[in-house]
Amino acid sequence: EEVPSQQQVVLFASPGAGHLIPVAELARRLTTDHGLAVTLVTLTGMSDPATDAAVLSSLPATVATSVLPAVSLDDLSPDIGFGALMFELVRRSLPHLRALMEGGGGAVAALVCDFFGTAALPLAAELGAQGYVFFPNSFALISIMRHIVELHGDAAPGEYRDLPDPLPLPGGPVLRHADLPDGFRDRKELVYAYVIEEAWRYGRADGFLVNSFEELETAMAETFKRDAEDGAFPPVYPVGPFVRSSSGEESDESACLEWLDRQPEGSVVYVSFGTGGALSVEQTAELAAGLEMSGLRFLWVVRMPSLDGSPCALGTIPGDNNDPLAWLPDGFLERTRGRGLAVAAWAPQVRVLAHPATAAFVSHCGWNSTLESVAAGVPMVAWPLYAEQKMNAAILTEVTGVALRPAAARGDGLVTREEIAAALLELMEGEKGGAVRGRARALRQAAVRAWSLDGSSRRALGEVVGKWRAALLNK
Ligand code: UDP
Repeated sequence: EEVPSQQQVVLFASPGAGHLIPVAELARRLTTDHGLAVTLVTLTGMSDPATDAAVLSSLPATVATSVLPAVSLDDLSPDIGFGALMFELVRRSLPHLRALMEGGGGAVAALVCDFFGTAALPLAAELGAQGYVFFPNSFALISIMRHIVELHGDAAPGEYRDLPDPLPLPGGPVLRHADLPDGFRDRKELVYAYVIEEAWRYGRADGFLVNSFEELETAMAETFKRDAEDGAFPPVYPVGPFVRSSSGEESDESACLEWLDRQPEGSVVYVSFGTGGALSVEQTAELAAGLEMSGLRFLWVVRMPSLDGSPCALGTIPGDNNDPLAWLPDGFLERTRGRGLAVAAWAPQVRVLAHPATAAFVSHCGWNSTLESVAAGVPMVAWPLYAEQKMNAAILTEVTGVALRPAAARGDGLVTREEIAAALLELMEGEKGGAVRGRARALRQAAVRAWSLDGSSRRALGEVVGKWRAALLNK
């Protein structure tokens, strides 16, 4: 039996649970299913170290982990925004990544970077490793990234806002400009230059792993397959859905699950806006009123409301004595006692979605949440807030049909209690809701098939591993 040398594959995760969770799942599969020696590398400074540590602690001991030292971002104005800061953090951490890869001993077959991380691809080439991109998102977002480069070409520098609205994506949703990811609409936004640079490097990657599966984005997957055959774009392997596998007890985990155990099957609406989503004070109160008005059972993960109106709270660290439940309307918890549970900040989402009592998910449509819902067969009310969530909502409603999106959740205005209650009741009991529920059940089966013994995602990852092994033999 060959002893694997250290660091056959280096996974370079971008900050944030939404990145680290699927990258960790990739690491787990590469070691346990394929016996590769994997080092998972994380960055310091833009994610909560405790959350990172909790995710990493669920990994098998065979996955090596390494946290790169902090780099200074002090010279940058916080106004440049979260995305631009992420790109800068990666760029400034590259010398540390290089030192790690050079000092690890043994040949590195592949460096796999994440969205925000392709500045590391030239390093892979220099060290003789294959450079792959793990894309923790949809084919549709890769498509958007490709076309932004073409738009920005020297011949005719353009922008997305010059294109027809709505914009048909080849093999994907017809996308309203308002649903384009943040930072992509207008080249005057600071992050735009970073996005262009990131996207421009995609053409130079040896391949992509995308956290999607063939039956989720069928036409898109085919489009990319053809483009790879024609040499127009690197091969993109759909290897998802990666859903965090349960990992022993997390703190506070049991309260939610015990409560769910006491609810009737298929009765509970789960409400969560991810790790960064924030509602205004007014919207928080309106959502509470909508849940109350619906008369349905609910499990709501309440986060601190946004006081400045920004829908994204990433990068702001709440103080210890900030209790999000204190922002709920007076008497709400008492009036809904028994049929509603509001928890502060965090719920064991994968387990909640898999619980038989859970019937629907009011979601910000972060891609991990999306896949977790799909994998559990739970239909959604799409309530996207920022980043690429509006595009994800478009995919969920228009391509896969597993979500309803209240009209008011399209703009930046208030989603009223009436709209919230109506959307929930439609999804749970209505005719349109019935079709959506049926699609969710069917897509769950497809997600299971993707990772069954001869499933498309399992095969795709196997094919990539085969390439990396061949590269190792040639070293
Ligand atoms: N998550 C969780 N409990 C929570 C909130 C989030 O377990 O209360 C997990 C969720 O299951 C998902 C990840 O955190 O795996 C959030 O990723 P996603 O892409 O959905 O959204 P983001 O937080 O990046 O906006």
